[in-house]
Amino acid sequence: MNYVSTRGLDEKISSAYAIKKGMAPDGGLYMPDALPKITFEEIKALAELPYYLRAADILGRFLPDYDKDILTADCKAAYSEDNFKGGAAPVHKLENGNYILELFHGPTCAFKDMALQIMPSLLSRSLDITGEEGDAYILVATSGDTGKAALEGYADKDRIRIKVFYPVHGVSKMQKRQMATQSGDNVSVCAIEGNFDDAQNGVKKIFADKNIADELAKQGLFLSSANSINWGRLAPQIVYYISAYADLVKMGELALGDTLNVTVPTGNFGNIFAGYIAREMGLPIGKLICASNKNNILTDFLSTGTYDRNREFFQTMSPSMDILISSNLERLLYLICGSEATAEYMASLSSTGKYTVSDEQLAAIQAVFSAGCTDEAQTKEQIKKTFDKYGYLIDTHTSVALRVAEEYKAENGGAMLTVSTASPYKFAADVLSAVGGEFDGDEFETLDQLKSVTGAEIPEPLAGLKEKEIRFTKVIAPCDMGDEVLHG
Ligand SMILES: *Cc1c(COP(=O)(O)O)cnc(C)c1O
Repeated sequence: MNYVSTRGLDEKISSAYAIKKGMAPDGGLYMPDALPKITFEEIKALAELPYYLRAADILGRFLPDYDKDILTADCKAAYSEDNFKGGAAPVHKLENGNYILELFHGPTCAFKDMALQIMPSLLSRSLDITGEEGDAYILVATSGDTGKAALEGYADKDRIRIKVFYPVHGVSKMQKRQMATQSGDNVSVCAIEGNFDDAQNGVKKIFADKNIADELAKQGLFLSSANSINWGRLAPQIVYYISAYADLVKMGELALGDTLNVTVPTGNFGNIFAGYIAREMGLPIGKLICASNKNNILTDFLSTGTYDRNREFFQTMSPSMDILISSNLERLLYLICGSEATAEYMASLSSTGKYTVSDEQLAAIQAVFSAGCTDEAQTKEQIKKTFDKYGYLIDTHTSVALRVAEEYKAENGGAMLTVSTASPYKFAADVLSAVGGEFDGDEFETLDQLKSVTGAEIPEPLAGLKEKEIRFTKVIAPCDMGDEVLHG
């Protein structure tokens, strides 16, 4: 298996090289040139294995140039009980046919850990496999969760340096605290005056800037990305869809081969796209339902075929989904429309802010994807409703998804898996107010209040933050990001 650019560049590279590079030289994203398959019997066999062996099996199919034993050892370290208390990706049953996939048991209490606990090893191994002499300099633009999860994953890793940019008003207090207190000699964090798209565009510009690359090369560094555009971020996310299905079969909730619909709270389209790959491999997923908040650009795209970012940007209580450019959508376009059309659409997106796929292409997309969105009041209401009905506390992102999932299920029936992407304690103030608590204190008092109202345990990585020293406070303009990378 080789990797190719979504925009048609005439180049085929190995998986290690794709992970090392992050992004193709023509601005495209790397994709495998063929997708591996998985049989029902293999899925059934995976159900008997611990999560790390499921991960090593699936990842191995996408990373043929990685040594199997090393990959298995790296997966074992990444998905240990120490890192993921209570298991890496457990399925919680709300009631018959209504399940939650909990992806928030990692060190930062959000789903980005699922990829970012293993990604640093994949990158570090890629330097050896490709005979790279320089050290990797990771740049991350984050709307909150990626930044902290990347910092946790890369901190004090050999031959790697990492810098994280986040929108100064676009993340929660707790997320800010998590990033500002990050330990590690190779890490730094910088806020920018702007929104997530400004941060992401700034990072993209730096990646495309030859002068910056030359300057860094003199320092023995080359740029790499931990954003979900890197294949090394995406591949580990395929695992938990297959894992969840295997668990549902093992729990006796599904018979092998039964169809399962999946709803995903979506921002950059990375998580749901990994579900699509699992489906293409042969996992019996019926529909993939894309859930958005008030920034419902994907709902519009999936229902009309026009992607148009010329619209108002909203800050919501589910900030990790406050996004107007969903980068990984490019990978879906590539699979459905081919590289030529993808390059055209991306050029149009960058010059006019929009593009429209053909009727045929839209029909092919709609054969797999459905979409829905919620407003802020509905998001709050769903948190309360879910807690009252099931005694189960969900965060704001999960709430968007569960609302869309239940609407879909009410109309179409079928078993539904809703992907839960963050601990409710990560967005404690909004969750607390949704369940009727009064919040009047700082972010730590809010945790205690939420616990006293709901009885749900505070995850240890959040409770422990209070004692940690604040190390990073810098705020800069987006236009100064390049300078920050070179000299900050
Ligand atoms: C990143 C994130 C999302 C969105 O995932 P994408 O892969 O960007 O679509 C949803 N919820 C939470 C809590 C996140 O951190």
